[in-house]
Amino acid sequence: MPDRYAVIGHPIAHSQSPLIHGLFAQATGQQLTYEAIDGGDRPGGLARVLEAFRADGGRGVNVTLPFKLEALACAGEADEAARLAGAANALRFEGERIQARNFDGAGLVRDIAVNLAVPLRAARVLLLGAGGAARGAIVPLARAGAGRIVIANRTADKARQLAFDFAPHAGKGCAIAGAGLGEDELGGAFDVVINATSASLAGAALQLPVRSLAGVPLAYDMVYGKGLTPFLRQAQAAGARRLADGIGMLVEQAAEAFAWWRGVRPETAPVIAQLAKPLV
Ligand code: NAP
Repeated sequence: MPDRYAVIGHPIAHSQSPLIHGLFAQATGQQLTYEAIDGGDRPGGLARVLEAFRADGGRGVNVTLPFKLEALACAGEADEAARLAGAANALRFEGERIQARNFDGAGLVRDIAVNLAVPLRAARVLLLGAGGAARGAIVPLARAGAGRIVIANRTADKARQLAFDFAPHAGKGCAIAGAGLGEDELGGAFDVVINATSASLAGAALQLPVRSLAGVPLAYDMVYGKGLTPFLRQAQAAGARRLADGIGMLVEQAAEAFAWWRGVRPETAPVIAQLAKPLV
């Protein structure tokens, strides 16, 4: 019987993960199945879903909203990325033990630095948002060589707290600051502006100073499959040189999980090409 994997979330019908991992398995000749499991809307239910899946031959899972925090709590061992993010997006069953990883930040960095070929070394990064996705991105961006990261959030105190909490983990070469969305800190020149808010899901624009996006080499929206989001439109109007959505990040984090589970890293470019929607 092939090894079983799954993505667990709620809702989950929209998930691209079964398609992505199916393509990876086909391309690498790995014998596995990958399904989508609805974890339900009751908090605290993830442990039971995991136990049932493992008892039925499950080897590992991806975890998406709203279970990323609970996933970390269910694990007996977690890597630094998951511990710092306070959340896990991939689990592996090793006998009775559950191991946790968070590959979202690694996926983002690889998409920017490798797929989009925008250098992060010494880059000035504006990171919009202070939720789970932003949390997971800070240290990977710093470790990839970013020289300065300004975290800006609608609720400014959350951004300042994140900057305070993460500064010790970023290393000496990376300065981190927190601010509100409309503050002066955002007026400087940036090399990369990343939208890690969920505003684009609701079709909402961000109250940003135009200067923060003017001529920026890369404006990146973590949301994917929605074409030109309000944020990407703002960036385009401000003269951003390149626009990208988060489909590459999604595929890259999936490839990291696949490699962790199976010991073989699939090629991502053909899968990104198949899933990408035009930014119009
Ligand atoms: P989250 O924890 O719920 O955080 C949401 C963030 O968005 C908060 O900082 C919130 O600000 C901000 N926000 C929401 N509506 C806003 C608005 N109208 N104007 C300004 N700010 C607003 O969500 P998350 O887990 O971090 O996810 C954020 C986004 O990243 C989602 O859209 C998700 O789809 C995407 N994502 C993509 C990938 C990928 O693989 N491409 C992976 C992970 C996440 P306040 O603190 O002020 O409420």
